[in-house]
Amino acid sequence: MNSVVIGSGFGGMAAALRLRAKKHNVTLIEKHNDLGGRARVFKKNGFTFDAGPTVITAPYLINELFQLFHKKSADYINIIPLNIWYRFVFEDGIKFDYSGNEKLIKKQIEKFSKKDVYGYENLLKFTKKIFDKGFLELSNVPFDNPFFMIKQMPALLNLKSYKSVYSLVASYIKNEKLRRIFSMHPLLVGGNPFTTTSIYGLILYLEKKWGIHYSIGGTGKIIKGLEKLMIEENIKIIKGCEVKNIIVKQNKVLGVKLENQEEIIADNVICNADPPAIYDKLMSKIKSNSLFNWKKKRMEYSMGLFVYYFGTKKTYDDIEHHTIKFGVKYKQHLNDIFENKKLNNDLSYYLHRSTATDKSMAPDGHDCFYVLVPVPNNQSGIDWTTEGSKLKNLIISKMENSLLPGLKDNIVEDFYLTPDYFEKELNTKYGSGFSIQPKFSQSAYFRFHNKSELFNGLYFVGAGTHPGAGIPGVLSSAKVLDKIL
Ligand SMILES: Cc1cc2nc3c(=O)[nH]c(=O)nc-3n(C[C@H](O)[C@H](O)[C@H](O)COP(=O)(O)OP(=O)(O)OC[C@H]3O[C@@H](n4cnc5c(N)ncnc54)[C@H](O)[C@@H]3O)c2cc1C
Repeated sequence: MNSVVIGSGFGGMAAALRLRAKKHNVTLIEKHNDLGGRARVFKKNGFTFDAGPTVITAPYLINELFQLFHKKSADYINIIPLNIWYRFVFEDGIKFDYSGNEKLIKKQIEKFSKKDVYGYENLLKFTKKIFDKGFLELSNVPFDNPFFMIKQMPALLNLKSYKSVYSLVASYIKNEKLRRIFSMHPLLVGGNPFTTTSIYGLILYLEKKWGIHYSIGGTGKIIKGLEKLMIEENIKIIKGCEVKNIIVKQNKVLGVKLENQEEIIADNVICNADPPAIYDKLMSKIKSNSLFNWKKKRMEYSMGLFVYYFGTKKTYDDIEHHTIKFGVKYKQHLNDIFENKKLNNDLSYYLHRSTATDKSMAPDGHDCFYVLVPVPNNQSGIDWTTEGSKLKNLIISKMENSLLPGLKDNIVEDFYLTPDYFEKELNTKYGSGFSIQPKFSQSAYFRFHNKSELFNGLYFVGAGTHPGAGIPGVLSSAKVLDKIL
């Protein structure tokens, strides 16, 4: 069996390895000269910037890929648990250190509202139920059959999937700051907590179950480890080459055509690239049915991301590895990003300081950071060539006034990425950071199917298909392939 994988994100590499373990001849094709997709690495003057994912959860899903070939992941990668998972900081300066230590968590909840400890305990119990169903049972099975979806409906309704994550959390917790903390998880997978189905509340429990981890040397070391494994297992890797067309005859996929006009014939084509972009650009000349066109057209896309990477010549030792800083407004701000598609001066952001855990990420005496600001995706029409530098300056001054005093004078290396990068370089529709949003109406059967609903021999893994974005999500999407291919 010959299988071609388009794209080398976590989902693509996992798919290539899983198919190789089933003895397929696998060719993986990546547009860029380096692998990883959103998880690429940028190295600049002694700084190592992980471009994207930094919070490693459910590491067993990574270890499994090595176990498929009876190899030990510890020989390739070094993933360690973090003590403090996230530090949440509010505009009034009050902080909450979130970790796996329940005693400490409850102590901090008490700091905000004594009454909410009980609600938190019950919220946790409820998210365990969602996790058992949504993650353990359903995250790695295909949703390509409407009857299977219908069969799940009673359980999903029982789990209040019609509620948003925020309204689920609010039904247990009264304090507004705590509500923000415990409902922020959809933002990690591209959704608005006020509209994302409460099924994504499972992330809260998933973190508790396996903890939050860091890969020594950065997430990029996992990519390198997986690349080494693919080479050892004779997966052919073609880098720096874009797939321009998927070749189809009478609804059956026959292979791919590359930008250098070469054709690779295959029994299966597995797309790790963004599904809507695949259907729109690589299969544009092929007729699809009107029901599918309607489904594609009504899809709502995740927010865009503005990511500012910077290195400083001093260290900010009181900054944790992962900090989430909330602006004054929350619902209104998210509404501006997701619905009104406009920029807002009242920023909330995620600050990553890899050097808090790993000094190898920066030259001696320096700190390595990125700050991620959710912004509208490119449906906004924002001209990032002019807005990019304005937003960069705004975010620097916001950080300087709160978390990183004297920042401006200490930056020695920097660059930023906008939704244009995601659209033009990573080929995602509208430059969304996480493909389509994780709404109920776009989840499971309603998402782009792992086995194409239109063409035989065409499959999808990665953020835009079931179960969704985030490393555990895209690694699980590759596990779905095990069941259908
Ligand atoms: C800034 C940021 C921070 C994040 N933080 C976290 C985190 O802390 N924890 C977490 O779990 N998740 C995080 N995520 C989400 C997570 O990174 C993604 O959901 C996941 O990595 C996406 O993987 P994927 O398999 O969908 O592929 P992608 O990473 O999207 O890769 C797709 C690949 O396909 C290639 N490609 C596209 N079109 C073609 C073509 N025509 N021919 C050849 N190649 C093509 C692209 O170049 C790309 O390499 C973050 C994402 C971002 C952007």
